[in-house]
Amino acid sequence: MPPIAPRIAQMNASGSDGWELFLRAREMVAAGRPVIELTIGEHDVPTDPAILDAMDAAARGGHTGYAMVPGHDALRTAIARRLAAQSGVPTGPENVLVTPGGQSALFAAHLLACAPGDAALYLDPHYATYPGTIRAASARAVRVPTDPARGFLPDPEAVARAARDHAARSLLINTPNNPTGRVYPEAVLEGLAEVARARDLWMISDEVYDTQVWQGAHLSPRALPGMEERTLVVGSMSKSFAMTGSRIGWIAGPARAISHLIDLATVTTYGVAGFIQKAALAALEAGPAFERGIAAPFARRREIAREILEDAPGLRLLPPEGAMYLMLDVRPTGLSGEGFASALLEEEEIAVMPGESFGEAARGHIRVAMTVPDAQFRAALTRLARFAEARAAAVA
Ligand code: PLP
Repeated sequence: MPPIAPRIAQMNASGSDGWELFLRAREMVAAGRPVIELTIGEHDVPTDPAILDAMDAAARGGHTGYAMVPGHDALRTAIARRLAAQSGVPTGPENVLVTPGGQSALFAAHLLACAPGDAALYLDPHYATYPGTIRAASARAVRVPTDPARGFLPDPEAVARAARDHAARSLLINTPNNPTGRVYPEAVLEGLAEVARARDLWMISDEVYDTQVWQGAHLSPRALPGMEERTLVVGSMSKSFAMTGSRIGWIAGPARAISHLIDLATVTTYGVAGFIQKAALAALEAGPAFERGIAAPFARRREIAREILEDAPGLRLLPPEGAMYLMLDVRPTGLSGEGFASALLEEEEIAVMPGESFGEAARGHIRVAMTVPDAQFRAALTRLARFAEARAAAVA
């Protein structure tokens, strides 16, 4: 076989993509074991029947051919309206490209921002795909760790140092955050925006959890002074409308950047299926109350988690402010995140993600997805808390 290019061969530098525990849990389920899966960010309800009806009607109505590469005008306009209403930044269809999910938007954004070998900054802990996405775009993935003692909020001074030392071209942020469940406060975003302005960086802002905010408010860095021209917002229907499998999202930014990204889409994805776009439009037209309904189970489960875990011995719950995850510090048990997750899976048949799957900074932590029905979630957390208490007592 001829050589595989380094950007692909070395995409997952550690030789792992961090999903081993998830795969082990799936094997156990396939073998008939009653594992409670609190691993991936997938809703426990399927896509709403009203959205499926729109998809079906569109497909049967003929929307099965090539769709316009930038996306249907009506959908681009609806997304632009949603962004403008949320951020206050005037936004038109020319500022929006429809993409097959947020993931492909993340890849496109880095291809736009970075020439081969340029440094692209990302914060640790991070969504599992980030470093691989940057490397696949032929950029240099530069990790900026955040501190568990500061609740994993980024330190703008550390970001400024990394930007200077590596002559970085972009900064990737994610709020509400996966895996930490934090929502960045305005002061932190102002600090990061200041670095982006001072060092002329692209800010790539992953906002796929923008409707899942339990405390504080979602603020897009695009709304901050001098940021509209340098921010690429990554959005998605996956989390806000329970449409993960439909693969539809967007990238929003300056019209000139979007025009280049349309050229890129022409040579990569060639757009998104028309019947999926029609379904997305129907979903957006259902309005904010519909989105709130999809987010509601996670808001409820966050309260269940606080009730069970906030004063639990043997672990520490990070403030759950947004997104569909909880981050727990399990260092009092003497176990690593991997050790804890592995033992919990074997002994309690509960699958969670080790913090280490999301970067070195989350060592000694676990991420719990709030993605099973309330009663099952309550039972799982009660068992998890008992397990942590027993482990911590054993090392005390
Ligand atoms: N960004 C973050 C932070 C995510 O957690 C996910 C999915 O879990 C994505 C992007 C990708 O989402 P999509 O389904 O839109 O590709």
